Amino acid sequence: QYIGIDAGGTLVKIVYNHEGHLRFEKMAADRIDEIIEWINNHFTNPEIHITGGKAGVFAEACPDKVLRVNEFEATCEGVSWLLEKDPPSPEISSQFLVTNVGTGTSIHYVSEDAYERIGGSGMGGGTLLGLSYLLTGRSDFETILEMGRNGNGQALNITVGDIYSHETPPISGALTASNFGNTANMRETGFSSEDYISAVVRMIGETITTMSVQAADRLGTDAVVYIGSTFAGHDTLKEIIIGYTELRGKKPYFLPRGEYSGAVGALLHY
Ligand code: ATP
Ligand code: MG
Repeated sequence: QYIGIDAGGTLVKIVYNHEGHLRFEKMAADRIDEIIEWINNHFTNPEIHITGGKAGVFAEACPDKVLRVNEFEATCEGVSWLLEKDPPSPEISSQFLVTNVGTGTSIHYVSEDAYERIGGSGMGGGTLLGLSYLLTGRSDFETILEMGRNGNGQALNITVGDIYSHETPPISGALTASNFGNTANMRETGFSSEDYISAVVRMIGETITTMSVQAADRLGTDAVVYIGSTFAGHDTLKEIIIGYTELRGKKPYFLPRGEYSGAVGALLHY
């Protein structure tokens, strides 16, 4: 029995075959002992294919046979496999970008027979948890999702239209000129914890989109596939990214189970 594992900075993703169907599990990365116990309870003598930044720690602690797989290869192979299994509509071109928003963010270029990591940023899911904690004292992901949904942080930002208040702006007035830049409004208006989180979500979404769109322009492709647990159940972040990617003339895709791409790629690797 084979198991694919992506041991990331925050979450360990596990994929395995059960009666012809893939099963998916997610656990906290700081609980390696519990994860190994879980594996021992579910499998006998499994062959483990593992990727991710914590693969080394995991391999050391794990008594079973372990094959290590390169994280970027595993991610891109997993994305290609998931896209083939569940083709999105409209269909995606043969070359596209993958933006993986995990603890941090990594951008990859995938063409018919090659993968390349082309950039990244420290603006990611970890930023969402950390900034939300500093601003509101809450750091639980589900709570943050709920609070962000109930807030509106737009008035904490300055838009291009705000700056060009008396004339037609040279670029879309709807674009954000400055995330968290509206100090004047902050002094005059009261904002809630929900508004803060909503603005953090927007800043992360817009920044990730901007990086992705610029990279897509440079590489001559128009499709961006967004993956990573930061999107799990996170409709507000997805909406911001869809809106902002389309505003910039590119096509956004969210892959079902996309956060398991690394684990799927590792599982398939021989
Ligand atoms: P990296 O790839 O950067 O090493 P990772 O693989 O652990 O990290 P992901 O699992 O893709 O990253 O995403 C982690 C992010 O997902 C967290 O920073 C958080 O924003 C979000 N998240 C979703 N569900 C949870 C959860 N149950 N607990 C903690 N964070 C969660
Ligand atoms: Mg990861």
